[in-house]
Amino acid sequence: MTDHASCSTVLAAPKIAIIGGGLTGLLTATLLARASNQISSPSNTPQITIFEKSRSVGRLATRYRSDSETGKNWQWSFGAQFFTAKTADFQQFIAPWLDIGLLQPWCAEVVELTPANDRAKLPDIHSKEQWDAIHARYISTPKMTSWGRELATELKHTTIVFKTRVAPLAQYSHHQNPQQSQNQTFNQNSKQTELFDDTGASLGWFDWVICTAPNGQAVELMADSDFSQQANITKPQMQACYTLMLGWDDVQKLPETLNSQLAPQWDVAYLNSAVLDRIFIEHQKPAHDALLPSVTIHARNDWSQVHVDDDIEAVKAKLLEAAKQALNWNDDSAPSQTDCHRWRYAATIVNKDTKELGILVDETKQWIVSGDWCATGNIESCYQMAQKTVEAIWQTQ
Ligand SMILES: Cc1cc2nc3c(=O)[nH]c(=O)nc-3n(C[C@H](O)[C@H](O)[C@H](O)COP(=O)(O)OP(=O)(O)OC[C@H]3O[C@@H](n4cnc5c(N)ncnc54)[C@H](O)[C@@H]3O)c2cc1C
Repeated sequence: MTDHASCSTVLAAPKIAIIGGGLTGLLTATLLARASNQISSPSNTPQITIFEKSRSVGRLATRYRSDSETGKNWQWSFGAQFFTAKTADFQQFIAPWLDIGLLQPWCAEVVELTPANDRAKLPDIHSKEQWDAIHARYISTPKMTSWGRELATELKHTTIVFKTRVAPLAQYSHHQNPQQSQNQTFNQNSKQTELFDDTGASLGWFDWVICTAPNGQAVELMADSDFSQQANITKPQMQACYTLMLGWDDVQKLPETLNSQLAPQWDVAYLNSAVLDRIFIEHQKPAHDALLPSVTIHARNDWSQVHVDDDIEAVKAKLLEAAKQALNWNDDSAPSQTDCHRWRYAATIVNKDTKELGILVDETKQWIVSGDWCATGNIESCYQMAQKTVEAIWQTQ
């Protein structure tokens, strides 16, 4: 980040609304608070409010189920499985959570798996690589959501309002604005914006509005609002992803392909399949060994996009069929737990020829549209876009 400590001007306690409590939202609030701590007094620390429509932290998602007999859990990270920290800034940022073990490197054994066409045969499994410390992949423990929750807990000057869906900015523009004679949600004189929830109730006036929703939702939020960068929101393409979650009652019940007592142990498989993309073995991750056997499978993004509006039960049946072929289970080694989740906006298509979009700033209105999709669509992108947002706000102070 730039050296804010040398700035001569000081933020005059701006009120900042962040739409979306995923990692981009949480990291933006964290970096804004840190930047302001460096130069301002408590009286002009920005007042940040995060509005999140769900009860949790975005596409970092963990599902678990308990076995009533043993009290043990199955657990699936059904969104992001891991993240990288390739830049020195991000490495430095995550270091405190690595020190306490909340984040841990995942040195997974990775294989390439080609399902067999013949049911009587086992799939072809070749060792591919080990994710090691040189190009580390990190996970959050005990759950993938734990880091997001910790970031939220550490935010001292931020209010997080869950289960609140912000309405499209233009939707309630007919509303009587108490601060000026015209009826609109943006006040040109004060540069403040009034936000509403989806029932039309006011959420307050803000100096800055930062939208971190996936771009399919951001385009709806900013529609007809006169946002100067509206045309750019739809430039990056996002694709869907279906996630299959499988659980077994005991390691002895695992099919041979997953049983490390019968076959070489692997943690992650890249699949040669028209339907499935990757398999992740949850109970072999660091600090996950108390789990009952739990496996998460991501379908391919191109396959998921084609089937994005299909009936979820029909999709689940197709995924189970493909997983059965890949892992070669029979009636005795079939999973006892099966679940399926649809991510409508999962992955940003990264085209090596096109430039990264970056955050979209409307300086007149003081609105910023951000999110992982403004960069390469992963967790590291959330951090980079949070940094850019802080810089953009700082430049105008
Ligand atoms: C299946 C899958 C696998 C992935 N695997 C990896 C991986 O292995 N490694 C990696 O680095 N990344 C991975 N990712 C990507 C990673 O999860 C994302 O980059 C990251 O979580 C995006 O965070 P975000 O805050 O930008 O967006 P989100 O997490 O989508 O957060 C945006 C938030 O905005 C909220 N919102 C939207 N509209 C409104 C509204 N109107 N009002 C209030 N709130 C609203 C949403 O509820 C959501 O919580 C994966 C994603 C998926 C889905």
